[in-house]
Amino acid sequence: MPPKTPHINRNTDSNAPCPCGSQQSLQACCLDFIEGTRLPPTAESLMRSRYTAHSLVAVDYLWDTWSPEQRLRSSKSDIRAWAESCDWLGLQIRNTHAGAEYDDSGIVEFVAIFRQQGQLHQHHETSLFRKHLGKWFYVDHVEP
Ligand SMILES: [Zn+2]
Repeated sequence: MPPKTPHINRNTDSNAPCPCGSQQSLQACCLDFIEGTRLPPTAESLMRSRYTAHSLVAVDYLWDTWSPEQRLRSSKSDIRAWAESCDWLGLQIRNTHAGAEYDDSGIVEFVAIFRQQGQLHQHHETSLFRKHLGKWFYVDHVEP
């Protein structure tokens, strides 16, 4: 087992399938982004890694990939409470617009499935991402 990084709060098997549903291992998919050794190249890869970060309760990563305007509205402890209160069951990427390596903004439509207090939920969102100095950030949900 590789050493547990301080960024990730849940015990994690890096050879397990990535929670984002890419059918790759966590190690080959979102883990490098969350550990900060690589930047996600596209808006979709940031979206996927943020989903995986919820499942791993990687609060610092979720915070660091929020736009400054999002950070004003919330706190790390809110992120932690939310991420820990849910069992993250799956992610489906429905659609993307722009958000490629050479774009500086992008849209990703997704459905995240989770269980909270015994209730199954589907969170369907169209999200705006923005790239600043080579790094993608989650900005906000937008009207589809
Ligand atoms: Zn992944």
